[in-house]
Parts: sequence; C-alpha cells; structure tokens
Amino acid sequence: MGISASEAIALENQYGAHNYHPLPVVLAKGEGVHVWDTEGKRYFDFLSAYSAVNQGHCHPKIVEALVEQSKTLSLTSRAFYNNKLGETEQYMAQTFGFDKVLLMNSGAEAVETALKIARRWGYEKKGISQDDAIIVVCEQNFHGRTTTIISFSSDQGARKGFGPFTSGFVQIPYNDTHALEEVLKSRPNVIGFLVEPIQGEAGVHVPDEAYLSACKSLCKTHNVLFIADEIQTGIARTGKLLATCGSCNCSDSHCSATPEVKPDVLILGKAISGGAYPVSAVLADDAIMEVITPGSHGSTYGGNPVASAVAIAALEVVKNEKLAENAFRLGEHFRKSLNEALGTSKLVKQIRGKGLLNAIVIADHPESETAWNLCVSMMDRGLLAKPTHGNIIRFAPPLVITKEEIDSCIQIIVDAFTSYETDWAPLEG
Ligand SMILES: *Cc1c(COP(=O)(O)O)cnc(C)c1O
Repeated sequence: MGISASEAIALENQYGAHNYHPLPVVLAKGEGVHVWDTEGKRYFDFLSAYSAVNQGHCHPKIVEALVEQSKTLSLTSRAFYNNKLGETEQYMAQTFGFDKVLLMNSGAEAVETALKIARRWGYEKKGISQDDAIIVVCEQNFHGRTTTIISFSSDQGARKGFGPFTSGFVQIPYNDTHALEEVLKSRPNVIGFLVEPIQGEAGVHVPDEAYLSACKSLCKTHNVLFIADEIQTGIARTGKLLATCGSCNCSDSHCSATPEVKPDVLILGKAISGGAYPVSAVLADDAIMEVITPGSHGSTYGGNPVASAVAIAALEVVKNEKLAENAFRLGEHFRKSLNEALGTSKLVKQIRGKGLLNAIVIADHPESETAWNLCVSMMDRGLLAKPTHGNIIRFAPPLVITKEEIDSCIQIIVDAFTSYETDWAPLEG
C-alpha cells in the first residue's frame, strides 16, 4: 500500500503551504457516504467536501462520464467550439430556468463573474456613471478567497495582510430586510445585492422564512440585481434543487409550496459536478447576460468538454435519485432526532438547518476546544465533521444517505456528545 498516515501528514506539513488546519485523518478512498483512511478504517463523511459531494463519493455515473470524456476530448479552450458545451448549457438553462449560462471552474471565479456581470449591467443598462456602482453584501458572508471577494468579507482572518482592497461594496446585516431597504433607498448607485440563501460557512444561519422573497421584491422595486450565491445551498442540499426554489423546474412536490424567489443572477459550484471535477456556473436571462461580449471575460478551462459531461451526469444523478426529496425528508428526521436526544444537553446551544445542511451550536466560547474535541471524538467513532467559527459543528452528509445510515450517524453523534458532557465544563469568558 501507499504511505502511512503520519508520513502523509508530515509531507503536507513540510512541503505544503499551511492554509488549512485539517482534522488528523488521512483519507485514501471514498464511496457513497463513506470514506476510508490509510489504515482502512471507514467513516461517514459529514462534510461532503463542503457540500461538493452531494451525490456521494465516486458516483459511478459521474466517474464514467469523467473517464469517457477524458479519453475522447478533454480541452479545446473556447477559441473553438466543442460538441459538449452547448448541450450542457441547454441542460442547465432548462433545469434552472434561465436563458443563459456561463461556465467557470471554482466557486470564487463564478462569484467574480457574477460581480463583473452585475457591474457592467449597472453601467450599460441601469445608467450608473462609470466606476460608481455599488454592490450590497451581508455581514459574515462567505463567497470565496480571491482579492475582490475578501475585500467585502467581515472575516478578519481572511483579510488580514491582503489589502489594498477592491472598493464598491457595502455591508449590511444578514436577515435584515429593513437594512436592505435603507441602503437601497439612500444609495441610487446600488446595482446588485449578493446573498447566500443560508449562510453556510458562517455556521448554517437560516434566515426567516420570508427573507429571500422580501429581498427579491425590494431589489425589483429599486431596479437592483438579486444575486444568489447557491454554491453551497444549491443542488438539492437544503431539500430543494435550489434554496431559492421557484427558478428551478425540479417538480418536487414539497417545492411547489414555497414562494417564487427567482434570482436575477444565480451562482452555482461545488455539487454541480458531484466532486469529480471543478465546475462552476453563473446563470441569468438574456437582458443581463448579454452585457458579456467576446473579450470581456473568459477562462481557459471554463466550459471544457470534461466539465460539461461531468456536470450533466452530476445533475442527472440528483434528478434520477430524487436527492432533493431525500435531503428534505432525512433533514427533518435528523433535526427532530437530534433535538429529542440532545436538545437539553448542556453542550448544545442550538440545533438548526434546512434539508441536510445542519449545525449544532456548542454552548461554549468560540475560542474553546470543545467543538474540536467533539469532532475528534466523533472521528474516533467513525464520523467526520468539522467545526466552523470555533463553536459550531456543521453536519452535511452526502444526499445519497439512507434512513438506516443516518440513524447510525445520529447514534454516533449522540454517543460522542453524551460521553463528552460527563466531565465537561464550559470555558469561562
Ligand atoms: C465554497 C463557497 C464558495 C467558494 O467556492 P470555491 O470553489 O471554494 O472557490 C463561494 N460561496 C459559497 C457560498 C461557498 O460555500
């Protein structure tokens, strides 16, 4: 076999930049809801690569598309047409209910693309004077790691030492329609509002039921683009194909009950390729997307044949295996069971989420080791999850998980919490 866990960790430490702080587990294999470490120990994956692996690890249909297309034609650049891109654009446009699609690679690139589209739309269509456009964002947002995106982050760890920053952004509190209304009324040069339907990285903050539709209607009134970053919430994660459902044509029965919140600009990434290949996308209707002209934007790998084939396969899996429905049903079950078992635990401040994007807020200081220690204890018991912002643990398994499997996982979580609680005292302060 390959190298040992300690060798793998030592190599990363010595030769890799230290831009992450991983749990001490070295993974060597994945299949469905499971991953295995170098010693062959099996774990449930409750991170799913930050919700990129909604379809499960190494889904055979997605892998087949990846392998077949890689053997046939992998990269042409967009200097020429290829026989896969158009089909994929059509599939995505029809699936999500937009006129046009622009494919990129990483999530951050798709966000950057959406910002450029919005700015150009502001100058060319809304008539804002040059370089005056403002985009409204939310406090505690996470939209990626590029220089412009961190320019409007409120996470000091993500910003420190990386200035000077890009201007043209204004922050308002999340889940606050009044703040949005104020800024839209007082600043006529606002051209877009960029928002996550649920703030995932911030710790799975679910806004009020009416928040997104209220934002959408305020944006409409003020002729401002409503830009939804569904990189983490999209592709069935929250129990609907999109958290801003209404734009998609998923025909899931529980979706039709939700009010329509179609974004003007939709940003997708992560699970749009099921973890097999980096693919991201920006979707918009013609009146917006037409501001993009030859030479104004591009990417060598964006929309390549492999990405195209993989994205269609990944979206078909979501549809054929009814993953939105499964996420909805098992998400309700997961929160209900955890609330019953841990709702009164002194370790637990709150259990929250939507579909299979959930979190437990630990009743301890963000600087405490409690959430980390609980993750290590769950890891020892065969379940991988990771703290975010110190005292929040996110639970986001692949959406192919079964009722039986999620029940075993609930047992692991409950065991880890109850045994830790016995001799635990919160950090003062
Ligand atoms: C992960 C994520 C991004 C960034 O995606 P990358 O592929 O890591 O660049 C942007 N927005 C949200 C909401 C995300 O969860």
